[in-house]
Amino acid sequence: MKLTEDPHRRLNALTNEWVLVSPHRATRPWQGEVSQLQISSEPAYDPNCYLCPGNARAGGIRNPAYSTTFVFENDFAALKPQVPAARLDVDGMGLLVADSEPGICRVICFSPRHDLTLATMGLEEIELVTHTWVGQFRELGDLTDINYVQIFENRGAMMGASNPHPHCQIWATASTPEAPAKELTAQRAYKQVHDRCLLCDYVALEARQKVRVVCENDGFIALVPFWAVWPFEILVCGRRHFGSMNEFAADEAHFLGQILQRVTSTYDKVFRVPFPYSMGFHQSPTDGADHPEWHFHAHFYPPLLRSATIRKFMVGFEMLGTPQRDITPESAAERLRELAGASLR
Ligand SMILES: [Zn+2]
Ligand SMILES: [Zn+2]
Ligand SMILES: [Zn+2]
Repeated sequence: MKLTEDPHRRLNALTNEWVLVSPHRATRPWQGEVSQLQISSEPAYDPNCYLCPGNARAGGIRNPAYSTTFVFENDFAALKPQVPAARLDVDGMGLLVADSEPGICRVICFSPRHDLTLATMGLEEIELVTHTWVGQFRELGDLTDINYVQIFENRGAMMGASNPHPHCQIWATASTPEAPAKELTAQRAYKQVHDRCLLCDYVALEARQKVRVVCENDGFIALVPFWAVWPFEILVCGRRHFGSMNEFAADEAHFLGQILQRVTSTYDKVFRVPFPYSMGFHQSPTDGADHPEWHFHAHFYPPLLRSATIRKFMVGFEMLGTPQRDITPESAAERLRELAGASLR
């Protein structure tokens, strides 16, 4: 099988799902792309932004004049903490089933500056963000009702992020959500069969093959996974085996900040626009059990395909069958790797 020429499907070893790859259809999507770099036109402070320091949020609550990071309970929370435990299963048939889901939703502003992003913030500022993530993960994960803590960032209007102010969200839930639940099953099964960690073995393979690696430092490696669905998808994995931010070694918060800055600034160079994406950390559940199978990682899912405006859609066969891509993950990684080495301006 020629992975660069023949249509084939690839297994996502982390979820046990497949992706269809059609390399014969690919033309290098970035050829001939000559658009100018768009510099952020956002002001450092926006009087109408509900995340800027000192401004009023929904319901009249006013933000403090914060100077680093700022955490608050989401005013439009999708989850509530005080929900009585209950299960519905009509006639015990397993057809009309519902579980109660207590949870907590918070927002973290990365910076008081309205116009910055992870790509343009200084490394020391990003480190303050990583330390805030660690604190929040620990605090929420320690709550008895909370068994999973999902930290994620939606960036760009294309991803539904209506406010450019740099921020992320935390949704902490009683159940383990679908995506990490699939990964839990796969990592557990691999550990049972091989008595080793799935992602430790995968990272070792990728580090040897090198074709999908984008950039790396002493703590983390960023790569386009073999099974990537999104054109420029990136997986960031810890080099060392550990399950969550709770287990960071002394310098790992620093290395995480460094690699996130590198990945996001590389993305901004692809089409010379602030690159939209959803990103988030997948960490071991906080259910009180040991999770030796879980390997800390982050996913970046950016929608852009061919230019600043042409995005990938998940429709048709992808919605009803299997996700599909044209440019190979190896080809996307090569492009990202070149850009990771280049300077932005
Ligand atoms: Zn703002
Ligand atoms: Zn591992
Ligand atoms: Zn994951």
